[in-house]
Amino acid sequence: MDTIKSYKCPCCGAPIKFDASVQSLRCESCKNEFSPDTLEQMSSAYESTKESKFNWDEYIPREYGAEESGNIAVYSCPSCAAEITGDDSLGATVCPYCGNSTIIKGKFEGSFKPDYVIPFKLERKKAIAKFMENASKKKFIPKEFKDESKLEEIVGMYVPFWTFDCDADADIIYSGRKTKTWLDANYTYTRTDFYKLFRSGKVGFANVPVDGSKKADDNYMEAIEPFDYSEAVNFSSAYLSGYLADKYDVSAVECIDRANERIKHSMEEMLRDTTYGYEMVTTDNSSVKFDNGKIRYALLPVWWLNIKYKDKMYKFAMNGQTGKSVGNYPAAWSKIIGYFSCWYGILTAAALIIWNIFMN
Ligand SMILES: [Zn+2]
Ligand SMILES: [Zn+2]
Repeated sequence: MDTIKSYKCPCCGAPIKFDASVQSLRCESCKNEFSPDTLEQMSSAYESTKESKFNWDEYIPREYGAEESGNIAVYSCPSCAAEITGDDSLGATVCPYCGNSTIIKGKFEGSFKPDYVIPFKLERKKAIAKFMENASKKKFIPKEFKDESKLEEIVGMYVPFWTFDCDADADIIYSGRKTKTWLDANYTYTRTDFYKLFRSGKVGFANVPVDGSKKADDNYMEAIEPFDYSEAVNFSSAYLSGYLADKYDVSAVECIDRANERIKHSMEEMLRDTTYGYEMVTTDNSSVKFDNGKIRYALLPVWWLNIKYKDKMYKFAMNGQTGKSVGNYPAAWSKIIGYFSCWYGILTAAALIIWNIFMN
């Protein structure tokens, strides 16, 4: 009966066989030798990192009660087609996504009720002051970006997020190396040892957010993280008072891949942090399994600002809890030229002074 197990060389991938004369496994291709125990360990590590399994409980939506939905209206933007909910008594406002100021109020029709909300902590005046502070740190921005009347159009809007909780269990194989260099009278020597590093661990994740709005740019939303979930409260429509709230238009199911990717990536980073002393550590194989996966629907506070400059809209978003913001400023060439001509002026003046000193 054939009981010989065939292995692949961990260094070059060529098939290797047991060499009875040296009682070890020898690779004909790269000439490395391995003990059977080492190869057995490696083979079972690779077996355990073959696939990932992501199990999420089905999201169970909650409906608004009639008395609650009566206070909510839908505001639609004819310019960018955003449909946003808000307090029924909300006065004039601008579209947080495109800055258009003619948004149309309509009747609110069934949308799921969020499970929880992180209320705005940074109120409007503080958000404007924070924006001014950020803008004043930039040297070359046009004055429109410090114009009070434009800044007044800042809109507080809750962004819909799906948040994911789970217990993750990972088995990961990394490749790493250690190099040593030494000298003698004639040569510099470098020795490089290559390692396979197997790591395994369990981590509980809570509130991994994925934004559920097509209009809220994913990069913007990730740039203003983190939110402090210890301040989250059960949702009540009272929190909408004075603010807008976008409705989700990307379902929980559609966000699962993004959540899986984020959690898997975090797991790989966390376990990689335990590979002390190795250089150039890269992930070879990774398997992450989830248990107790729960999905919830949350509203998170974001301040939005759109500033039009030379026919282009510049969009800014700010975390309504921490003031962390993201956005692009245009450069004002007149200011850059002004800055350089000012320096040119100073340099010319300095040159003249030196000239005068020499002349005297
Ligand atoms: Zn080999
Ligand atoms: Zn709009």
